[in-house]
Amino acid sequence: MPGVDFPQSYADLLAWFRSDEDALDYLEWLRWGECGFVCPACGADCGWRLRPGLWSCQLCSRRVSVTAGTIFDRTRTPLTVVHGSVDDDRLETGGVGG
Ligand SMILES: [Zn+2]
Repeated sequence: MPGVDFPQSYADLLAWFRSDEDALDYLEWLRWGECGFVCPACGADCGWRLRPGLWSCQLCSRRVSVTAGTIFDRTRTPLTVVHGSVDDDRLETGGVGG
C-alpha cells in the first residue's frame, strides 16, 4: 500500500528493482497511488508524465520530480549512488493521503 512499503534506503530500492525506470515508477505509485499525479503547488490532479519520475502540471506547468521531498531527492544518478545519509523520517509517517 502507498506509504507503507517505502524502502528504507536507495540500496533497498535497488535490491527490489533492476532499473531506474522501475524504481521511479514504484516511487510514483508510492507517492501518488493508482490515481496518479497530484501537483504539490496547485493541487491539480492532472499532469503530463515527461519521463519516469518527472511530471509537469497541466494547470501551472510546474515540473515535479517524484523524488522531491523524499529521501531520494538528492539522488541524481540512482543506480550509481547507493550510499548516503538518510535523515528524513517524514516518510515513516506516511505521506500519501487519499
Ligand atoms: Zn500545478
